[in-house]
Amino acid sequence: MHEYSIACEIFEQVIATAKAHRASEVKSLTLVMGRLTHTNPEQLKFCFEVLAEGSIAEGAEFIVEMLSPSVECECGYQGRAEPPGHPTDQSGEDIGEDRSENGNESGARNRNESGAEAELHQSELLEYVAALNCPTCGKAARITGGQELIIKTIDIETEDES
Ligand SMILES: [Zn+2]
Repeated sequence: MHEYSIACEIFEQVIATAKAHRASEVKSLTLVMGRLTHTNPEQLKFCFEVLAEGSIAEGAEFIVEMLSPSVECECGYQGRAEPPGHPTDQSGEDIGEDRSENGNESGARNRNESGAEAELHQSELLEYVAALNCPTCGKAARITGGQELIIKTIDIETEDES
């Protein structure tokens, strides 16, 4: 599950940063996640919480801000580009997929944890990227952002008592 390895990296960075600031507790962290990372924020949160158990980041609030992809076009347009349809949670391939297999709910859940699911997401990602057209002229535009995953802020408690 690729969310798990991402969560590991985030966790290590958070702990390293917190220790560098002599934190006694990590209260919250905010991530900025490009929509094109196609990472599941809920799974990421879950993995992080598991990793954080017993550490100073245990129970930290895990906030994810989704970032729309940005594009650059030969017509001169530079900026955000939303994929066709609704850019928000309703665009979810996941949602549609689960509904179409309604009679087989447990099967769908199992597949969520298998490698096959990750491959499926990979191909969906490519389709998604190919569908990004310039909002001004409609031509295919070069993607310049939306694949980033950044730790934006870490809110810590320090035990500095002088
Ligand atoms: Zn254009």
